[in-house]
Amino acid sequence: MSIPLNPSAFAERHIGPDRPGLQTMLDVLDQADLDALEARAVPAAIRSGAPLDLPAPASEVQALAELRALAARNRPMVQMIGMGYHDTLTPAVIQRNVLESPAWYTAYTPYQPEISQGRLEALLNFQTAVCDLTGLDVAGASMLDESTAAAEAMTLIRRTARSKSSRFVVDADTLPQTLAVLATRAEPLGIELVVADLTLGEEGLPAGDFFGLLLAHPGASGAVCDHRAVIDIAHQREAKVAMATDLLALTLLTPPGELGADIAVGSAQRFGVTLGFGGPHAGFLSVRSDLQRQLPGRLVGVSKDDAGNAAYRLALQTREQHIRREKATSNICTAQVLLAVMASMYAVYHGPEGLTRIARDVHGRARKLAAMLTGAGVTPEHEHYFDTLRLQVPGRARAIAAAARERGVNLWVEGDDVVQVSVSEATTDDHLELVLGAFTGERTDGADTAPGSALPRELTRTSEFLTHPVFHAHRSETAMLRYLRRLSDTDLALDRTMIPLGSCTMKLNATTEMQAVTWPEFAGIHPFAPAEDSAGYRALIDQLSSWLCEITGYAAVSLQPNAGSQGEFAGLLAIRGYHRSRGDEHRTVCLIPASAHGTNAASAVMAGMSVVVVKTAATGDVDMADLKAKIDQHADSLAAIMVTYPSTHGVFEDSITELSELVHAAGGQVYVDGANLNALVGVAQPGVFGGDVSHLNLHKTFCIPHGGGGPGVGPVAVAAHLAPFLPTHPLVPEAGPETGIGAVSGAPWGSASILPISWAYIRMMGADGLRAATLTAIAAANYVARRLDEYFPVLYTGAGGFVAHECILDLRPITKATGVTVDDVAKRLADYGFHAPTMSFPVAGTLMVEPTESEDLAEIDRFCDAMIAIRGEIDRVGAGEWPAEDNPLRNAPHTAAALVSEWTHPYSRAEAVFPAGVDPAHKYFPPVGRIDGAYGDRNLMCSCPPLESYAGR
Ligand SMILES: *Cc1c(COP(=O)(O)O)cnc(C)c1O
Repeated sequence: MSIPLNPSAFAERHIGPDRPGLQTMLDVLDQADLDALEARAVPAAIRSGAPLDLPAPASEVQALAELRALAARNRPMVQMIGMGYHDTLTPAVIQRNVLESPAWYTAYTPYQPEISQGRLEALLNFQTAVCDLTGLDVAGASMLDESTAAAEAMTLIRRTARSKSSRFVVDADTLPQTLAVLATRAEPLGIELVVADLTLGEEGLPAGDFFGLLLAHPGASGAVCDHRAVIDIAHQREAKVAMATDLLALTLLTPPGELGADIAVGSAQRFGVTLGFGGPHAGFLSVRSDLQRQLPGRLVGVSKDDAGNAAYRLALQTREQHIRREKATSNICTAQVLLAVMASMYAVYHGPEGLTRIARDVHGRARKLAAMLTGAGVTPEHEHYFDTLRLQVPGRARAIAAAARERGVNLWVEGDDVVQVSVSEATTDDHLELVLGAFTGERTDGADTAPGSALPRELTRTSEFLTHPVFHAHRSETAMLRYLRRLSDTDLALDRTMIPLGSCTMKLNATTEMQAVTWPEFAGIHPFAPAEDSAGYRALIDQLSSWLCEITGYAAVSLQPNAGSQGEFAGLLAIRGYHRSRGDEHRTVCLIPASAHGTNAASAVMAGMSVVVVKTAATGDVDMADLKAKIDQHADSLAAIMVTYPSTHGVFEDSITELSELVHAAGGQVYVDGANLNALVGVAQPGVFGGDVSHLNLHKTFCIPHGGGGPGVGPVAVAAHLAPFLPTHPLVPEAGPETGIGAVSGAPWGSASILPISWAYIRMMGADGLRAATLTAIAAANYVARRLDEYFPVLYTGAGGFVAHECILDLRPITKATGVTVDDVAKRLADYGFHAPTMSFPVAGTLMVEPTESEDLAEIDRFCDAMIAIRGEIDRVGAGEWPAEDNPLRNAPHTAAALVSEWTHPYSRAEAVFPAGVDPAHKYFPPVGRIDGAYGDRNLMCSCPPLESYAGR
């Protein structure tokens, strides 16, 4: 056999090319087998040689059985803990047709808007729901969680507040995990947090200046207070005000915008997204319109296409880190799109009356419980609350919580004297009886619902919300089902075509890997439940962590960061913590190659470092002479270098070990951005070939689907000397080292409920399967490079003429000669039924192609054939046959509607929509034509448009 690797049966399915297909690719590369390719393509200095020490691969049946056994060790209880996480009832139509639908979960971030209108509309609905409910003007398309959203609000305020103070005041009734994340984010930036008891109103505010204020509405204790006076005073002192809030409560309560707040943050979790041991959930952030250009993360807006029809696209893209880099306002890249889509659909399905009814039920049950407990002699501490009762029970708190657990209910306990009970949509009258029993020790008949409300009258919501027809049109399940299908049908996701996105690793998300995510034993666990409830989760986390250490060659890993960007921030804080522990506070310079991903520079700034850019040599490698010069120049203050390996140029650089030695010799640490780990798993280990710390993207290399732009998991893996500086959690000490750097996410293990996906992938692939996947990905990229080089020159290759797992196609000479741009080619690919490759990253005017191991030869050839046909079209433009301003490329993509309007183009309708290789029977038509992004940015509209402007569809 010419392919000496022996992957498991699962791996044979995960890996796209069959043996003859792989052999064809290897023949083109003139390599006998994958081992030979490895020897030629991967520098000897980094190859590990020894196989990974992982358990023998499990079959799909066996892996599911093991996951079932792990699940059985978790204990889903009636969750009445609250503290930012509430039980919810996911409508089955949304669970099955969004969360479990590959049309939604395998989609990519909607950077190519013409093929992403469905998810863009869903995100616009999310933004509209958040704006309406919070009473503010503009909301982004999700944040990573509530706590990081609060931290983003803090830094947004600092950028925009007129006050020059460095103090940020935080309501003492803020969620403890949010306070912890704020502290982690504040310290490196020199922001001083002042915690203040603002239930006292104005009296509670500290004397002196502060630049901003975070209030809680309702508070972590459940209290609902009228903060208007405090907000006014903060504004008088030139500070801006953010409010952490709860979307469900806001159906009944005066929203932050009407109270005078400038910003609202929170979590949309209780809109139909299960607890999942802490995540993933969509955080939100909304602002007044004067702050809209400062919003972190992605923002969907309405623009128009080339036919003048309304069309969606990401607005203000210039805010992205790739352009702003170290001046970026935030490092957030992957967010929580899939969960935002779920929350938006929950709002669409229930509408304003449905949401209000749910909120009234929740509030009614909370009142009923208050009456029952008062009857039993325990009166809630707060007069005004929405869903959470705080109860003073001197000396009895633990006994009551234990009695509740015996009855199957989890409560929140604070010390010996305080219990909190939080009511959710899933709470029943029976649950209230169980809680009462835990307080009284007996079964009692509860009092009837007390009349009236425990919300302060002056905070009663009077304004309308969710008035747009979309929140009224899909109430029957049939209508909802069809709406979801209609939206996803307008999009191209992995269930229709390869998505050859360099740096993003859009590989198979196997169905078996997805299955455990919605099992109640994983979905129903509260992140702050007693440890024994999550024994299965903890075992899975330990196993996955040890496998990731084995794969990377590092000593320890934290799964807390919920995207690659957050892993970068955590890793840089670990480096910072290490230097400080040695008295090296002055080491603050972070070297970053010019080709780095934009998040790197933004993360370094967030970690209090100053960025020094290292040049790229003509070969595309890090310019070693410039590196040496920069190291000399900053030797005393060098903190770290951040390099991506293989580089963002898609090349294994021979110089990595030398680079690492130089930086270490100067006292710096080496951060290896692990986003390209799909080129390394089973072949080389960053922790061995020179790295001190890496983040991984489980949503790239380890099969968590992209979800249209999230969720993700960005574990940070470190060498032993950095292990004491991993993230921690204020409520769950086992989640990190005692000496750690603080929390970077609200939940102890971040987006825990999607970890079974990566666990299952590694478990079923085994060491040989993972190595075969890596080498097949390298073979596929090199095959694409060889097939396309003659048509679109491959910009960079390594020493042996090979690329790594992706290749950059240089269109700049073609653009110069013909006027046809990367944009034109990207849009034209949609006419051929493909998602475009990565555009203009890391080099402007190029396309970066990453086929991954999961695409079979036929699909790779279909893509190459399309690219070659497009080159033929470009040549006709170049030859003057088609004018530069009117040709199939410039007018791409072509809609069905365009065909039946007057046809004046110098090419035929068939050439427009059925170019070579496109089967008319399986033709994909984008719903809109080329979108004018600049128009939308000039006329910013980021919530649901009035229907008239939307008439095109
Ligand atoms: C994707 C990527 C990141 C950022 O990861 P997110 O999960 O999107 O935050 C960082 N570096 C590189 C090279 C990447 O490709």
